[in-house]
Amino acid sequence: MAGYTPSEISDILITQEEIARRVCELGEQLSRDYAGKDLVVIGVLTGAVTFVTDLIRQIYLPLELDFVCLSSYGHATKSSGEVRFLKDLSHPVQDKHLLIVEDIIDTGLTLRYLLETLASRQPASLECCVLLDKPSRRLTEVPVRYRGFEIEDRYVVGYGLDSAGLFRNLPCIGVLQS
Ligand code: 5GP
Repeated sequence: MAGYTPSEISDILITQEEIARRVCELGEQLSRDYAGKDLVVIGVLTGAVTFVTDLIRQIYLPLELDFVCLSSYGHATKSSGEVRFLKDLSHPVQDKHLLIVEDIIDTGLTLRYLLETLASRQPASLECCVLLDKPSRRLTEVPVRYRGFEIEDRYVVGYGLDSAGLFRNLPCIGVLQS
């Protein structure tokens, strides 16, 4: 069963199988790096939901899962550069090892804001894991220790990523017809 791929998708950039393989590799790496540490995985709603729920099941360690929700592009396909908290963490994170899990890093503004905010809460460590990286679009340098795939500057959907709220349930990463 190939999964749901609607006709609006012109090009599949990353298949379901490629994603699963890479998530597994990242999970192995994270399991090694965080062994013996108090790990809190922080998913960024809503786009990272699919990635983070798959990823934590490949991390063979005790961990806590929390979520933040930040304002994003809304229905546009260009960053406004403005970031706001719509939902904060549910628990204190002082002295814990924090791993932010994000769907995609584009300009870097969202992750920079989140890193600065969480750094002020005195965690033991703070790192980022992104599924997709569009380095050509970066406006600010952000330290990303773990990344799934580097992609070119195209607006992608699927595996949690949306366009106007749709396409999050695609099992692959695709590009919409223009
Ligand atoms: P940044 O702040 O790094 O510019 O953007 C981060 C957010 O922008 C992501 O969490 C995501 O919501 C959105 N975004 C950036 N590029 C894309 C894209 O190609 N497709 C989708 N669906 N969202 C994107």
